[in-house]
Amino acid sequence: SIVFLNDSFMPMEQAKISPMDRGFLFGDGIYEVIPSYDTKLVGFAPHIARMQEGLELIGIKLDWNVDKWREVVESLIEKNGGGNLGIYLHVSRGNDGKRSHAYPENVAPTIYAFAFDIPAATVADKTITKTYKVNSTEDLRWKRCHIKSTALLGNVMHFQQGFTDGCNETLLFNANNELTEASSSNAYIVKDGVITTPPLDNQILPGITRLILLDILAKDGSLKVEERVVTMDEVENADEIWLTSSSKEVAPVIEFNGKQVGNGEIGNVWLTAQTLYSAGKYNY
Ligand code: PMP
Repeated sequence: SIVFLNDSFMPMEQAKISPMDRGFLFGDGIYEVIPSYDTKLVGFAPHIARMQEGLELIGIKLDWNVDKWREVVESLIEKNGGGNLGIYLHVSRGNDGKRSHAYPENVAPTIYAFAFDIPAATVADKTITKTYKVNSTEDLRWKRCHIKSTALLGNVMHFQQGFTDGCNETLLFNANNELTEASSSNAYIVKDGVITTPPLDNQILPGITRLILLDILAKDGSLKVEERVVTMDEVENADEIWLTSSSKEVAPVIEFNGKQVGNGEIGNVWLTAQTLYSAGKYNY
């Protein structure tokens, strides 16, 4: 595949980064993943805005505007033949030849981007959509989960915990037994027709799929949505549980900690929500 490194496109095998790069040594960087279906991007502007905010939060100075990012992303899609692609963008603090904690002065960030195949867009159809089994564990990541840091060991360990138990995602709860999110997705419950998801704070990543879904649902107005604290008791007793992420879109969870969610079938509120999401997502 063709990748982008710093200022040019090249075959992936030719892309070389110093082992002294702080992205490698410290996980000192910010990343994004933007989905693209048949060259149509979903949420390009909010994805870039989130990355710019992340870079600002960690003090990486990069003078790239949205148009520059669009140029790179669109070229990457074209050079990799279109189709269903996730566009991975990564900016690390670069490298000053040392391994010292202090932010180096006047060092150019390392910029890396590649495209990878993703599943076709989710179709709002209960008979074919991918379902999820999750278990739950205490969220042991750091207190800056709103930053989309490339340092993902906490997330990776949480995912792996579920994976070794035969699950394909892990729900996380804080010390107060409140739902935060999942290892690589935002989380929602549905009870008596009301969709509820934890509010944005430092415990969760502000997902772009979450942003788009909540905006679409608010504009449509037919489903009730609440952003508030969700206890794990509520998760246990939910009629439906969903996950969202750029590659999963709105994904139904049918098993939680070994027990079926609701009646064990994909829910009707999911069907409505994914139908609306599918119809509206390219407007973002
Ligand atoms: N939470 C976490 C921890 C994530 O890593 C992700 C992205 N994979 C999400 C939520 C979902 O974010 P988005 O909708 O922007 O993909």
